[in-house]
Amino acid sequence: QSRFQARVISLEDEPIDQALFERRFAAAICSRKNLVAETNARRIVFSEADLAPGLIADDYDGHIVLQVRSLTMENLKDVWLPALIKVAKPKSVYERSEMQGRQEEGLPSFAGQLYGETPEETTIEESGIRFIVPLKSGLKTGFYLDQRNTRRELGRRVLPGQTVLDCFCYSGGFSLHAARSGAQTTGIDIRPEAVDLAQRNAKANGVGSEFHEANAFDWLESGPKESFDWIVLDPPAIAKTEAKRDSLKWAIWKLVHRSVPLLKPGGRIIACSCSYQLDRKELVETARLAAGDRGVRMYLEGVTLQDLDHPAPVQFPEGLYLKCAWLRIG
Ligand code: SAH
Repeated sequence: QSRFQARVISLEDEPIDQALFERRFAAAICSRKNLVAETNARRIVFSEADLAPGLIADDYDGHIVLQVRSLTMENLKDVWLPALIKVAKPKSVYERSEMQGRQEEGLPSFAGQLYGETPEETTIEESGIRFIVPLKSGLKTGFYLDQRNTRRELGRRVLPGQTVLDCFCYSGGFSLHAARSGAQTTGIDIRPEAVDLAQRNAKANGVGSEFHEANAFDWLESGPKESFDWIVLDPPAIAKTEAKRDSLKWAIWKLVHRSVPLLKPGGRIIACSCSYQLDRKELVETARLAAGDRGVRMYLEGVTLQDLDHPAPVQFPEGLYLKCAWLRIG
């Protein structure tokens, strides 16, 4: 039932053995050496982009958390796992393969220790901000590494005293970067565990960010009293298949449409789509429709993509999944 007819592991006539994966993982780790500074957490294997289709591995200060998304890589586990341990020399390896996509490959959901001993959580650093990462119970592999550069850019651009609404905040990434630059921040997430984690992170960094447990769609509509200089919209991947593209478009339209009246004059929205199905052009088009329906002018000030440890091969367009449109209302 897989959506993928084939997965290309090699175009050469070569054995698919441990040595092959050792070479690939070494190249993958090497290519990231200078890419992502100021942190001790990075994605070291990103599926097709690193010629390991269906395998992702994130390194949190030496603790690797990985996901196996394809039957191919599941069947080759005894081949690539020793290669990964040899090349990355991790303190531990933990698998978090609990995503729905596994069913399509005929694979059950699985989580468990593969090597060493993984603690419940660890603390990582991102541009001087500390984040607790729940290695065994967080969303995905515990942290959204892919938004690092966009969070950092918000930290750079926000001004002291400005107000920021961080919708879909998870562990508080955008909030904390903005708060560290002197902004007043409010984060919203539907999961109590996320709100709790974000609050612990704010405390650990000594910033006064506020977090609330709520459905962001409803919260935006409930008419909060304050208005904001910035609203971050970072919803989860609503559309994984082409058939669901319209529902994602509609969701983004709703979020932007509900955000516009909450912005101060000249306020900004960072609208993110982490689904390949909604590309950059359609994301901006959706924002344009929402702005038009509200009767406001809107400017595109930039687009940021997934950070560089999630490389996007030009020959594999599906690898470019995360786009964030930086929008300002006139
Ligand atoms: N911005 C975060 C990552 C967001 S992941 C970061 O930089 O780390 C998406 C988050 O949206 C998850 O934490 C999930 O719990 C939350 N979520 C999903 N549906 C939601 C909804 N309807 N309202 C609010 N939060 C929601």
